[in-house]
Amino acid sequence: MAGLIARFPLLERLMALDPLTWFNPGATTLAEGLPHVGLTRQDVAEAAARLTRFAPCLCEAFPETRASKGILESEIAAIPAMQATLNQRYGVELTGRLLLKKDSHLPISGSIKARGGIHEVLAHAERLAMAAGLLREEDDYRTLLRDELRRFFGQYRIAVGSTGNLGLSIGIMGARLGFQVSVHVSADARAWKKRKLREHGVTVVEYAEDYGVAVAQGRREAQGDPHCFFIDDENSRTLFLGYAVAGERVKAQFDQMGIRVDAEHPLFVYLPCGVGGGPGGVAFGLKLAFGDHVHCFFAEPTHSPCMLLGVYTGLHDEIAVQDLGIDNLTAADGLAVGRASGFVGRAMERLLDGFYTLSDQEMYDLLGLLARDEQIKLEPSALAGMAGPWRVAADPAWQAERGLDIADMARATHLVWATGGGMVPAEEMEKYLASARL
Ligand SMILES: *Cc1c(COP(=O)(O)O)cnc(C)c1O
Repeated sequence: MAGLIARFPLLERLMALDPLTWFNPGATTLAEGLPHVGLTRQDVAEAAARLTRFAPCLCEAFPETRASKGILESEIAAIPAMQATLNQRYGVELTGRLLLKKDSHLPISGSIKARGGIHEVLAHAERLAMAAGLLREEDDYRTLLRDELRRFFGQYRIAVGSTGNLGLSIGIMGARLGFQVSVHVSADARAWKKRKLREHGVTVVEYAEDYGVAVAQGRREAQGDPHCFFIDDENSRTLFLGYAVAGERVKAQFDQMGIRVDAEHPLFVYLPCGVGGGPGGVAFGLKLAFGDHVHCFFAEPTHSPCMLLGVYTGLHDEIAVQDLGIDNLTAADGLAVGRASGFVGRAMERLLDGFYTLSDQEMYDLLGLLARDEQIKLEPSALAGMAGPWRVAADPAWQAERGLDIADMARATHLVWATGGGMVPAEEMEKYLASARL
């Protein structure tokens, strides 16, 4: 370990739990980085087409998706009051425009996991039903909600390991189609999330250990049962592609809003990162949509900087934060991951501009400020992205290195990805708000 620290000097600050920003020297162009991803534009288009096929089914199954005709998408909101507040707080002026991507308010599960998790359940259901001759691509997918199909899916099980939100997405979607779902949850999973899952008829298995152990147990349960499908948050391409569909969706939203993204109008996106599938998939989709004009940053808690650690050292999933004596204890449930996905780190390391960490208190403070100034309530994890624009604004040297001058920065759009919080019960939200120092 001493040798590692000598080679990678930032590790000392990481171990001291100092909030830090690391601009990725390995970041390159889309043209150079894309071949390393192992997935293509065509793969993302297929995921998008699958979600379109399922839209009538979701629309019927979940009345809250009627307004969007069964397409799960979130709003993009301007947050100018928050921008003014944070200019003060951080003592740096963010000259571009600050926007919030409200995945916190996605239908069905109120988090970014409604993208990947639901896509994976739908892909699995489609595969099973087609193989059994019960569904063709050209069918009206509402047929999947018939009793006959529910009985068919009822013979199959789905297992997943989760810190909470992935379990909610997969549990609610899987149970609605008739699958027997078991969600293996880590110690830090919130009681209300477990309760909600049980209300939907999902089996919740609890572990005293962290996310990695819950995943390993879920995987073990699925082995040896050919009727059980394990959803692998660490390695699943299907999950990743579900997230990636966001890229084209954001582009269409920007077109509608009249927001340009090009060489003179750079886009910066800040994504809270746990194991990496969500932010990795979204960043992949954004890169495909906006090419080299989008700059993606991952945000992690100082106590769980697994992706920064994996990419910075090049060790990816061969190192965990615990190996450095970092405890992986954070109030940001979705981000409490000690070992990053090796698949995502290796696929995306050339396409990410940087990584940073922030303290739990910082997330709580940002949570309180956003609620006060914009009346938008999020869970702590979802605020990790909010510090990002000021980390970039505070570093003109990096901007210059990337060929961005003051005028470019003034025309920039900063999109903070709010990953969850829409379903947090009121009394839980009060506790979060009480932890903020305003
Ligand atoms: C899961 C989650 C993330 C991060 O996604 P990963 O795929 O684990 O990296 C961020 N925020 C919230 C609220 C989440 O639930």
